[in-house]
Amino acid sequence: MKLTVIIPVHNEVETLDAFLAAVTPVLEQTEHTFEYLFVDDGSKDATFSVLQQKAHTNPRIKVVRLSRNFGKECALLAGFDNAGGDAVLVMDVDLQDPPEVIPDMLAAWREGAKVVLTRRDNRDSDSYWKRSTAGWFYKIYNAMARVKIPDNVSDFCLLDREAVDAFVQLRERCRFNKGLFAWIGYEPVVIPYMRPARTQGESSWPMAKLWSFALDGLTSFSTRPLKLWTYIGSIIAVLSLFYGLFIVIRTLLYGVDTPGYASLIAVVSFLGGIQLVSLGVLGEYLARVYSEVKDRPVYLVRQKIGF
Ligand code: UDP
Ligand code: MG
Repeated sequence: MKLTVIIPVHNEVETLDAFLAAVTPVLEQTEHTFEYLFVDDGSKDATFSVLQQKAHTNPRIKVVRLSRNFGKECALLAGFDNAGGDAVLVMDVDLQDPPEVIPDMLAAWREGAKVVLTRRDNRDSDSYWKRSTAGWFYKIYNAMARVKIPDNVSDFCLLDREAVDAFVQLRERCRFNKGLFAWIGYEPVVIPYMRPARTQGESSWPMAKLWSFALDGLTSFSTRPLKLWTYIGSIIAVLSLFYGLFIVIRTLLYGVDTPGYASLIAVVSFLGGIQLVSLGVLGEYLARVYSEVKDRPVYLVRQKIGF
């Protein structure tokens, strides 16, 4: 049985050697044959030429080079599309996904699991801010999405061929892989691990990118933010009706009470704010609908090596 290891890489020239040196001995000790499938996600440094050289001398290495940077989520789809193994393992190149966990994942797969996920049991390598926002994200996501994802799962995972064939049918452009892995079904086996800090290179996930990624995740798997406004609007309308009645009755009983400028401004600006927020939510969905209807491919391949 053959294993394909997909590794998305973006400007990772200094991490490649360490990755191969750490992962190869672990894979060689398993009973499976394996291949590396690097997806070069539009690297600007020498990542591709180094991979090309390695692929010439090492028959286990395959490379798919994308035409530009499409982002990790899309790069992974390129990997899955080109993976030939009976099982597919997804790993980051920075060794934040410890190779020691791979034998356990393979064991779970041999015991019949179609989807093997891993869960970070410490997030010490992340800042306090990133940890707490991530914690909130999982809470909000699972409160809203119909198909839940386990807390703190990472992209470090293993899929059986059957699950891979299901996964590659999902061709959406705003991709949130953790949600997609859950969406295809196949009760996952979750293996906990300790996540070390990145040794070389640097993380390419600034806060702004994480924020839009979180919105991609929520909007892809829940329409609740969209529907919420019907209820918020109804509640405000009913409250306003009662308040209007109250004012009319009070005026009839006690006459006109002119002061009220401050409360008027407060109510008008509050409602203005609420309306803009609801428009913004509509916009988030509309923008994604727009990018889906254009029906562009999820990624473009520039070159393939080793196939
Ligand atoms: N990556 C990618 N395309 C991108 C950004 C990142 O293929 O646009 C790859 C990167 O080379 C690495 C993996 O995705 O192998 C995880 O990236 P990173 O370590 O920056 O993310 P973090 O661990 O901070 O979540
Ligand atoms: Mg990393």
